[in-house]
Amino acid sequence: AFLNGVSLLHRDVSRDMWCKLWPQLPRYEIPIEGVTNGVHTSSWISHEHHQLYSRVLSGGSNGIPDSCDFAKVADIDDKELWDTHMVRKNKLVSLVRDRLRRQHQRLGSDRTVLEEAGKVLNPEYLTIGFARRFATYKRATLFMRDLERLLELVTDEKIPVQFVFAGKAHQADAHGKEFIKQVARLSMDKRFKNRIIFVEDYNMNVARYLVQGVDVWLNNPIRPLEASGTSGMKAAANGVMNLSVLDGWWVEGYSPEVGWAIGGVEPYNTEEERDYVEAESIYNLIRKVIAPLYYDRGADGLPRGWIKMMKACVQKL
Ligand SMILES: *Cc1c(COP(=O)(O)O)cnc(C)c1O
Repeated sequence: AFLNGVSLLHRDVSRDMWCKLWPQLPRYEIPIEGVTNGVHTSSWISHEHHQLYSRVLSGGSNGIPDSCDFAKVADIDDKELWDTHMVRKNKLVSLVRDRLRRQHQRLGSDRTVLEEAGKVLNPEYLTIGFARRFATYKRATLFMRDLERLLELVTDEKIPVQFVFAGKAHQADAHGKEFIKQVARLSMDKRFKNRIIFVEDYNMNVARYLVQGVDVWLNNPIRPLEASGTSGMKAAANGVMNLSVLDGWWVEGYSPEVGWAIGGVEPYNTEEERDYVEAESIYNLIRKVIAPLYYDRGADGLPRGWIKMMKACVQKL
């Protein structure tokens, strides 16, 4: 009796897909609505964020984040929000190191490799996360399109960037598995100095650590194939900013004060052009906008501009 897409953009895409069923109706009257997906906030914010939000944002006696007054986010102390973020970031680093050590143990790697695995990732560096199904339309390898640009980002001495990837492909999806292979191989490339990590055996626990512990959440599907996308919502609830293609929910969530948009909404002439423009957009945003903001510290070591954006992100999204 009621039909809906899972975001406003997906409603429009669905109307185009199913319009033949209602040949007498103009597109905007096709009875398919948009109900944008959401996530269950208290399932996806960290224990530490839960405590912080309950204490500062709680409207009444019950401190469950779903009943929090998010207008009060401005009242959260900058240092406290940052410290909470850093607790989660350090936990993510520990989880990744543990899992890498286990990956290498299983492979029978020698001791020096095991020791190195225990030292990957620097919690002080700008950390970008990407974790989801490796369906090809999600383009997990887009960030590798220009390896020289990528190398420049990860080896910069003043504003270094590191990436953490995780995900599985469907067992029948040969292309998805090929993408995993490419990311995993790059993560072993010595030139990239352990700044690109692939975490095996993706599951909800790994997802939780990632959306709670990275600085930026990367999402670059081929527009408009991501019907909604929800991992970015989980990240946002923890003060992790989205760097995403304007697809799915992000068309509705995005504004310049809460995150970054890769590319635009105009169609491209070719797939080649699309991938080129959007990969360039990722490199340029990270190098010229995101990393400088992250590393802009006051005398107290706090990235005030970044924290301001984290607050807008939690409050609005
Ligand atoms: C939320 C979630 C997803 C969905 O991620 P998208 O970026 O929206 O594709 C996938 N896997 C796990 C484990 C999740 O928790």
